[in-house]
Amino acid sequence: MAEELKSKAAYTPKNAWSVYRGETEQKAVREFCDSYIDFLSRCKTERETVAYCTEYLRAHGFGDDPAGKAYVTNLNGKCLFAFKKGTAPLKKGVRLIIAHADCPRLDFKPHPIMEQAGFAQAKTHYYGGLRKYQWLARPLALHGVIVKENGDVVTVCLGEGEGEPVFTIEDLLPHLAQNQVTKTVRAAFEAEKLNVILGSRPLDTDEDSKVSEPVKTAILDLLLEKYGVSEEDFLSAEIEVVPAAKASYVGLDSSLVGSYGQDDRICVYTALRALTDKEGESENCVLILSDREEIGSEGSTGASSRFFEYCLADVVQAHEPETALRHTILASYALSADVTAGLDPDYQDVHEKTNCHSLGYGVCFEKYTGSGGKYGASEAHAEFVGMMRGLLNRRGIPWQSGELGKVDHGGGGTVSLFLAALGMNVMDCGPALLSMHSPFELSSVVDVYSSYQAYKAFYEG
Ligand SMILES: [Zn+2]
Repeated sequence: MAEELKSKAAYTPKNAWSVYRGETEQKAVREFCDSYIDFLSRCKTERETVAYCTEYLRAHGFGDDPAGKAYVTNLNGKCLFAFKKGTAPLKKGVRLIIAHADCPRLDFKPHPIMEQAGFAQAKTHYYGGLRKYQWLARPLALHGVIVKENGDVVTVCLGEGEGEPVFTIEDLLPHLAQNQVTKTVRAAFEAEKLNVILGSRPLDTDEDSKVSEPVKTAILDLLLEKYGVSEEDFLSAEIEVVPAAKASYVGLDSSLVGSYGQDDRICVYTALRALTDKEGESENCVLILSDREEIGSEGSTGASSRFFEYCLADVVQAHEPETALRHTILASYALSADVTAGLDPDYQDVHEKTNCHSLGYGVCFEKYTGSGGKYGASEAHAEFVGMMRGLLNRRGIPWQSGELGKVDHGGGGTVSLFLAALGMNVMDCGPALLSMHSPFELSSVVDVYSSYQAYKAFYEG
């Protein structure tokens, strides 16, 4: 067969499987993804993720002192700032990676528990951009905290243990869905019907004693007896409804990882490991795990909060009091580590194929996000993209570059604009997913590894 003729100047993205084809590389990819899968199975909320990462960093020498060589702190247990001192002066800036620890989910309402038609149910308010029908008729778990009026915290994790009951939201049977199926998707699935079944056994009473809500009453009794929790306690609680089940490999060849929460815990984990595993001493490195990204990054623990700036100020003050914080910030480089959309084999028409990302082609550089006319996002400077390109090419790390989808077909944003607002050099850089924001998101094992290597290279400088 004749060889295809190509210009020397032509660009073809490298398939990451061909880069990691050797036995040693394959072993490294697999070992890394085994621990990534374990992490995903353990961390299903922002609190659990921040607790896991804090513990991991502490085990790797990070302490409480901003003047120390390695420092970690958090706010309300929901967002995290970590710093690793390099030999370079802080006036030359830091290498910063920010990823978000929150994911789309269903939150219990302040008054969650109700009874209808013989079922005790919990009312929810969805969090983030999700497709409501994906949460019906599937096993769910409850994670979170209930804070008592005396300040005691009851940690909740129900539906994950071996043999433990799970929860679910029922769905309409097809036989009686004739009206529903003719509606638009938006109209067919109502937020106020996302009620989680808590139980169906009524209170055990004798015939003549009247209880108006026998199932709800029985459930409340059970909550008090088993967990010491009253109905009023739910007013100061954060209960998140998430898919029950562990993360796993997908496909006959185990080439993919399937799990809830990969947006953006895939970047949380790869950046965490990059920070602890990095070699070389020169760069000052920062890892930020933010919260509330899925709903616009507002709030004290979101990327728009001043908290992260205060943490960096503490570090600069402790190590180099003569340097002004603004000089450190302006000299810094940041990667906004977040996922992007991969080319969907069944919905290829939403992508512009010359500029899309594909699973299995390595970490993605997204020069800009936003929607129609590049609205609502920052854009990385060509110089920064050039620097990253050179860095990864020199190390033989597979990467690709593209856009989220076709222009004027939608869009999305990341936290990059909040760092860019400080004057920092920022670029979006993370792996592509399929089924993004669903209860079972898909990533490619080689992209997980490529992201880890890219973040590590960035930290090493
Ligand atoms: Zn995200």
